[in-house]
Parts: sequence; C-alpha cells; structure tokens
Amino acid sequence: MHDEGRQLVVAVDGPSGSGKSTISRRVAQALHARYLDTGAMYRAVTYAVLRDNVDLADVDKIAAVAEDIHVAIGTDPVAPHVSVDGVGVDREIRGPEVTRAVSAVSAVPAVRAILVAQQRAIIADAERIVVEGRDIGTVVAPDADLKVYLTADAEERARRRSSENATSQAATAADLARRDRLDSTRSADPLRQAEDAVVLDTTTLGIDEVVERLQRMLDKVTA
Ligand code: C5P
Repeated sequence: MHDEGRQLVVAVDGPSGSGKSTISRRVAQALHARYLDTGAMYRAVTYAVLRDNVDLADVDKIAAVAEDIHVAIGTDPVAPHVSVDGVGVDREIRGPEVTRAVSAVSAVPAVRAILVAQQRAIIADAERIVVEGRDIGTVVAPDADLKVYLTADAEERARRRSSENATSQAATAADLARRDRLDSTRSADPLRQAEDAVVLDTTTLGIDEVVERLQRMLDKVTA
C-alpha cells in the first residue's frame, strides 16, 4: 500500500492512440489519484491561437497568446475539464482544426515553458497523480515513481482514433503519422521514451490487462 504522506507520481507517455488517456484515467481512479491530461493543455492554447487568427508560423505571436491566456485544467479522472479564460473548451479542443494545428503550437519553446511550469505546480500540489503526455517522464516529472511508455502499431492506433472521431481510417492514419513525426522530431522536448520507462505495447492487449499490469507494477513501487 502507498504510505500516507509520501507523494506518488505516475508518468504515462506515448503517441496518439496508444491508449494513454483511457489507461491513465482508469489507473488514477483505481489509485484514488488525480489525473492530468497535458495534451488537453496544449490543445487549449492551440484553440486560443486559432480563435485569435494567429499564423501558425508566427512563433512570437503564438508565445504571446500563451502568455496572455489563462488555461485552467481540472484533475478529476472521472470528469476531466479544461477552460480558456473561464470558458469551457472541452468539445472544441477535440475538433479537427485544433488537432491539425496542435503539433505546430506545442513545438514552440515558450509555449512549452509556460505549460511545463503549470504542470509541475499541479503535480507538486497533488498527493497522488497520474500524468499523461509526451514528455512527462523525460522533462515534466523526471523523478516520477513509475514511468510508462505506451505504444501500439500505427494501424491499430489509427483504427482506435477513427472509431472515436468518425473519420476514415486512412485520413486518421495520415494525421497520426504527421503528428508522430512532428512530435518526435521537434527540438523542444520531443516525444521520446525515458530510459527508465517501462514499455508496454498495447496493440493486442486489452485495456483491463494493461491496467492490471500497471497496478501490479505500482504495488511493487509503493510497497
Ligand atoms: O495527447 P493529445 O493527442 O491530446 O496531445 C495533443 C498534442 O499535444 C500532441 O500531438 C503533441 O503535439 C502535444 N503534446 C505535447 N506534450 C505533451 C502532451 C501533448 O507536445 N506533454
């Protein structure tokens, strides 16, 4: 059992469609922990960039938007919620416009600096928290108690995403490949597996099985 008073941080990284969100939320609920979806924060900044008609090549203007707005993110694993300047944007941030633009916005170092600082403050405030993203084990929480890197075949990831958002699998596969490439080749905090992360390929594993494996790992970590 987790010893009261000691903090517990679980970092879950991996590409889109690897099962990060579903698995992180389930693990957080089982642990009675908070849950932080860092991708939702990058999506919220992207929403504001598009709302303000900022050119995606204009790094300074993108940075200025990120500095001006207030992104508030809830950490309840049952009902995650994100708002920009007090307005809920949960639906908007999942739309195709934001999904297309988010990798460009999240590659801007000033955007990352602002959001990473906010993410670290949220983590510091929590007794137990499961944090999902691309750079959690490497940059945001390098001292996490457990680091997990989830992967899955590109085809399976596209299948999962297209069933979620009712887009064709071919279009989704192309979008995922583009985002994977941008997210893993950017110079600021690229998607990369931490050396001490446990790698789990979820292509053929069911959600329950992955959650159970993580729970067994956590039992060891917190014993
Ligand atoms: O996880 P999700 O697909 O919602 O993330 C959206 C995008 O946000 C990613 O494609 C990536 O560009 C960016 N992101 C990031 N760092 C994180 C989380 C997400 O750059 N920690």
